[in-house]
Formats: sequence, structure tokens, C-alpha cells
Amino acid sequence: MSRFSIINPADETLVQQIEHLELEQVDDAIERARQAQRRWARLAPAERAAHLRAFAAAVDADSEYLARLETQNSGHPITQSRWEAGHVRDVLTYYSAAPERMLGRQIPVANGIDLTFHEPLGVVGIITPWNYPMTIASWGFAPALAAGNAVVLKPAEYTPRTSLRLAELGLAAGLPDGLLQVLPGAGPVVGARFVSHPDVRKVVFTGSTRTGKAVMAGCADQVKRLTLELGGKSANIVFADSDLELAAASAPSAVFENAGQDCCARSRILVERSVYDRFLELLEPAVKAFTVGDPVSEKTDMGPLISAAHRAKVQSYVPDDHTLAFRGTAPGGPGFWFAPTVLTPDRASRAATEEIFGPVVSVFPFDDEADAIAFANSGDYGLSGSIFTTDLARALRVSRAVESGTLSVNSHSSVRYSTPFGGFKQSGFGRELGPDAPLAFTDTKNVFISLPPTS
Ligand code: NAD
Repeated sequence: MSRFSIINPADETLVQQIEHLELEQVDDAIERARQAQRRWARLAPAERAAHLRAFAAAVDADSEYLARLETQNSGHPITQSRWEAGHVRDVLTYYSAAPERMLGRQIPVANGIDLTFHEPLGVVGIITPWNYPMTIASWGFAPALAAGNAVVLKPAEYTPRTSLRLAELGLAAGLPDGLLQVLPGAGPVVGARFVSHPDVRKVVFTGSTRTGKAVMAGCADQVKRLTLELGGKSANIVFADSDLELAAASAPSAVFENAGQDCCARSRILVERSVYDRFLELLEPAVKAFTVGDPVSEKTDMGPLISAAHRAKVQSYVPDDHTLAFRGTAPGGPGFWFAPTVLTPDRASRAATEEIFGPVVSVFPFDDEADAIAFANSGDYGLSGSIFTTDLARALRVSRAVESGTLSVNSHSSVRYSTPFGGFKQSGFGRELGPDAPLAFTDTKNVFISLPPTS
């Protein structure tokens, strides 16, 4: 068995060594999940609902501990980590109502009765990234469990701690043993086994587009159900008729939150040419006021990057030339710090086209609505985005034209547990959250019962 060292990214100290599972242990866990799922699916819907409510209450009672664990493991500012722990509780509470509301259908037909059922799939494999470990885990396991499935979850190598804690809390709150198992390990071992194991009936993968394509290819072999939540390069479109102060004041948090390690980061700011210079003037003090530092401090807006290797990747996008507009400040070492950075690069440059996944934003002028839409839609991604305008007709027109799954007007909101979330194009497919998420963990079964004709 190999071990993986968990490092606190804010000070580079060793936090814990995590044992990585081998293939046979993964197979054993999947078999336990399969057996637990059979018992779980036989419970009355009201009992499953009660278990999920108890799980939510356990998360609520543990939320400060979970938040501190996340801050130490992932470097998230403590206020952010507290929001995340509360969000996991809310996601569980929201989906605790689902077992009793998965109603199926009765459709009028001739000569009989026709019933539609939503059958659980069995064991679901969830593979998560390191940027929002506990929230993304809950987006998968809460609706999957609500729909009658068991879950095996592989956290990212860097950030397993809150997922492991959530599984402990679920068990302590009374979830059947084996129903929700967190299996730390290497992607090509544990994650790949979820893809190849015939008893894992669906994979939910959140991560890079490159790994997502390999997972998709692997799932094809068994026609395995799959949800993909992948990368992004989202546009924040600022029209001249917008509240420019609001647009500039809110732009830093839309890309620097979680140090830019956010699939929804608005990492391209498109500004109508007539207000471009003014926007940059307003943006500079907002960026410089963004507080980067100790994640445990309540005053911190942004913590460190996840690792030294990731910091080197982010640095590779920052040129040492006139396209570097201005930067905020960050602490020196130890810790994987990176100052918020604003570029004004060419539209075809690497910084303008690739997902950086760090606190680096590029600002571009545009000529008119058609130009803004065409540039926003360039590239392979389509996850998120924002539109700043005071013209409601334009807000709707541009929202419909931008090829993206999750847009917001005059704000940068992306995630609410009660609304669907997911991407267009190579940002993925399938939707998480919202009222329909449990259905994505079922297969639809239709049963026709023939009745003798009435005389
Ligand atoms: P990654 O693709 O490197 O890893 C994601 C997960 O896949 C990890 O748990 C990893 O161990 C696992 N994995 C690696 N190789 C595998 C394999 N061969 N088979 C199965 N699993 C394997 O991504 P990352 O660096 O952890 O996360 C960053 C990426 O995630 C960014 O591109 C970001 O945009 C994306 N992301 C997307 C969303 C979304 O909802 N769309 C949310 C968060 C992050």
C-alpha cells in the first residue's frame, strides 16, 4: 500500500499521510456497496428520507470542524470553507425530500394501465477534483443516495480529508454500512476501476477535460452512464450601458475566489471599447484591495494555490511584457502563493484561450454585441459566464446566444443547490443540482399491464 503526503498549501507543513487503496480493496468496497444498495433500495422512501435528514443534521453539527479541515487541506479562506460546509448540509437537506417525491407516472393508454418507474442504477462511482472537495462530493452523493443508489467516491489525491470525514458522519448518523464509501487513491487505479468495474453502473466525473475524455472513452465499453463536469474559460461581458462601478468591483471575486481554482472563474473580461479604459481604471484598486494571505483569518479573500507544481503551471501563463497590466499582492514563502494578476493579452494567446485555473484574468475590448458573443463563444468550453447591462432585452438576447450552461446577469452567481448546474461543449454534459438531479441516478422503466376490455 502506498502513502500520499497531504501538505498544508499555506505553510507547506505535512498534515497527514493518507494510505492509497490497491485494486483488490477497491473491488471489495464495490461489492460491499452493491450489497448495501440492495438493502437501501428496499427501505420505505420515508425511511431513506429520514436517514438523509439525520446525515444533514450531523454535517450541521460538525460544520466548524469540516470547515477547519478544508482550510488546512485546501487553503480555502475560513469564511469560504464555512459556506462550503453549510452548503453540503443544505444539499443533503434539499435531496432528503426526493425519496418521497420520485413519483413516476401513470400515462393513459388503451386496454390497460401504463406505469413509469424511476429505478435506481445500483452502485455509483464519483470522482472529484481538488478545488472544491466537499461541495462537489455532495452534489454527487446526495441525489444518488436519495434515488436509491450506493456510492463509492474517489477524492482527489491532494484533498481527501473532508470527504473521508463526511463518510464517517454519514455512518455515525445511521446510513447503512457500505452505502457511502470514500476510497482514497490514485486516479489511474481507483478512478479507472470505477470506469472498468461492471458493478459500477454510473460514473460522475468532475475534473479536467483531458481526464474526462479518457473516462468517457472507458465508459463506452460498457455503455456506462456518465456525467462529466469539466473545465471552463468563462466570459464576463461588460456593456457600456452597465453599472460600471458594480461590474469592476465584482470582477475580482468572480475570478480570484479560491485563487482562481474554480471551473466557473470568469477568467476573460470582455469590455465594450468605449468604456474599456475607464473599466481598467476602476478594476485596478479593486484587484489591489483583494486580501491574499492566511486562510485562517476571517479577513482573507484568497488563500494559496494547491501545490508548487500547480503554481509553476499558473506562472507559465504570466508573461514578463507589456500585456501584464497590474497585480495585487501576496505573501512570500512558505506556502504556494500567487498574486492576483491582470493581463491585457492578444485574443489568440495561451492566456486568453486555455484554462489557467489560477488567479490570472485577461481583459479585452470588444466592438459590439455580435463581437462580444462571438468571442465569448470561441474555444471549446462553455461552462459559465456573466453579462453586465441595464438593458433587459439585451441581457436576455445575449444570455440565449452565449453557449454556456450557467449564466448570471449583473452578478457572478453560479451555484445554487436548487438550480441545475453544468456545461455546454467540452465543459461536459449532464446536470448536477436542481430538482431533476436524482433522476440522473435512475433508469426509466415502463410497465404496461394489459386489462381485459370492459364489457
Ligand atoms: P484531474 O482531471 O487531474 O483529476 C480529477 C480527478 O480524476 C482526480 O480525483 C483524479 O485522481 C482522477 N483521475 C485522474 N486520472 C484518472 C483516470 N485515468 N481515471 C479516472 N480518474 C482519474 O482534475 P483536477 O486537476 O483535480 O481538477 C481541476 C479540473 O477540474 C479543472 O479543469 C476544472 O475546471 C475542473 N472542474 C470542473 C468542475 C465543473 O463542475 N465543471 C468543477 C470543479 C473542477
